[in-house]
Amino acid sequence: MNDRQYKNKCTQCGFCCIMENCPIAVKKFNIEQFGEKCPALKFNDLGVASCSLAHTTFHKVVLGIGVGCCIKARVYMKGDKYDFSSQPAALKHEYAKAALKQKYGQIIVVKG
Ligand code: SF4
Ligand code: SF4
Repeated sequence: MNDRQYKNKCTQCGFCCIMENCPIAVKKFNIEQFGEKCPALKFNDLGVASCSLAHTTFHKVVLGIGVGCCIKARVYMKGDKYDFSSQPAALKHEYAKAALKQKYGQIIVVKG
């Protein structure tokens, strides 16, 4: 049973996995914690991120799927500071798109 729960819900923007690979990804794919894109990180046509390892309840619990947004990063806009996790879904997804492009040159094409 996973008893962690964060205040702000996860909007599946993918930002967390773009910025840092989880310990499971590092071990399973033999990749670095930073600087290599996790092969399990996928984006659908709406730009919604998912983890292809999260297909069992066990993996969902271990990976923390569904416990909310754990990102503690700060966002600065017009001189004010905000918690990343509390930002609107659309903004989180924009940050994720920008980070994916900047770090890995990958562009998320959102259809519709
Ligand atoms: S394995 Fe899943 S949770 Fe871990 S970094 Fe990759 S996409 Fe994210
Ligand atoms: S909302 Fe937070 S926890 Fe969910 S994918 Fe985005 S950064 Fe990760």
